[in-house]
Amino acid sequence: MGLKDNISIIFLICIFVASLLLLKPDGLNVQKELQIGVPIHTHALLNITICGQHFDLPKATQFEDNGEPFRGTALLHTHDDNIIHIEGIISNKEEASLGAFFDAIKVKFDKDQIFGSKNGHTCKGKPAMLNMFVNGKQSQEFRNYVPFATESPSEQVINLIFDI
Ligand SMILES: [Zn+2]
Repeated sequence: MGLKDNISIIFLICIFVASLLLLKPDGLNVQKELQIGVPIHTHALLNITICGQHFDLPKATQFEDNGEPFRGTALLHTHDDNIIHIEGIISNKEEASLGAFFDAIKVKFDKDQIFGSKNGHTCKGKPAMLNMFVNGKQSQEFRNYVPFATESPSEQVINLIFDI
């Protein structure tokens, strides 16, 4: 083998290693689906931005037995932390959907609106619309999105961005 062949082999090995490294994050991030009929406790972090401004979920108005404030239901709630807590037993996936969560905390949310900002309303004088991203990837699921199972809210970040 000549020097050129060696260089091509080294080059090919480099490409192979590089592609392994690129594929690895996906391979590690196997998303577990929510289980039905058994106790689950899942989290997702919600980031809501309207015309460039961050909005928190509405304040907790109820209290658990231990005094911890919450908003929503035993199954779907938040603790003034912008985190979706899904805690309990579901009999189907729809019970844990993003739409079901917003209904539980009494916030109007659909594919075209959040917090009263509706597609066509303006930001800085220009018509804006709602976009949804899960871990940086655009999603068209909106109300139908069913969070995957993870204890760590930072592993499931849902961005709802209303902007131009
Ligand atoms: Zn929780």
